[in-house]
Amino acid sequence: MKTLQDILFPRAATCLYCQHPRKAVWPGGLCPDCLEKLEENRPGENVCPRCMTPLDDEGKCLFCLQKAMGPLQYAYAPFRYKTVARHLILQLKFHYQDDAAPLLAQHMLPLIPSGKFDALVPVPLHKRKERFRGANQAEILCQLLSPKAGLPVLTPLERTRYTRPQKNLTPSQRQKNVRDAFTLTTPVEGLHLLLVDDIRTTGATARECARALLRGKAASVSLLTAAIATRDDEK
Ligand SMILES: [Zn+2]
Ligand SMILES: [Zn+2]
Repeated sequence: MKTLQDILFPRAATCLYCQHPRKAVWPGGLCPDCLEKLEENRPGENVCPRCMTPLDDEGKCLFCLQKAMGPLQYAYAPFRYKTVARHLILQLKFHYQDDAAPLLAQHMLPLIPSGKFDALVPVPLHKRKERFRGANQAEILCQLLSPKAGLPVLTPLERTRYTRPQKNLTPSQRQKNVRDAFTLTTPVEGLHLLLVDDIRTTGATARECARALLRGKAASVSLLTAAIATRDDEK
């Protein structure tokens, strides 16, 4: 059913970022200026080959040095969690705009190495949160990526513990908050899996998912997110 909101503000009538009235020729919902700004959210050339985190001035990856990858083999992300990319992810998470998901998926797709993975696995939300939000943003991204990447979507993980939002917790609190929060519900033995989520911050959630999958004898687990948030980016 159409709401008054839908009629007054039809889907993507404006640029997803600056609200400039939309022209039909714009691909993906951003005006040319904002598309250029989105390119500035790329992690850049100087990134860690394992996790794509921008390297510090001494050429070190703090994320890997802090062992934040845990059992994850690789982590991929097209953007840092800043300006336009951050805005698109918030749109995706809270379903303000349906166009944000395909745009993010379009930029995540080229990062999936061909022939390396057997399936995509969305990081699950707790059932209660999923009901509240209406859908899991990680699963939306998986469904968009799946046909183009030629990989099936598996949902072998269940979030069995209701966890506090990670947002305002310190790294060690985040780790404690998600410990043993995930249970394996279907077999994954021998599979190379690519976890998918919207954003990677401390990596605590992805590490716990990877641990649960590896307890089920998955062959390897890597992570693909739409963005990487460093402590600076989140401010
Ligand atoms: Zn714009
Ligand atoms: Zn790294």
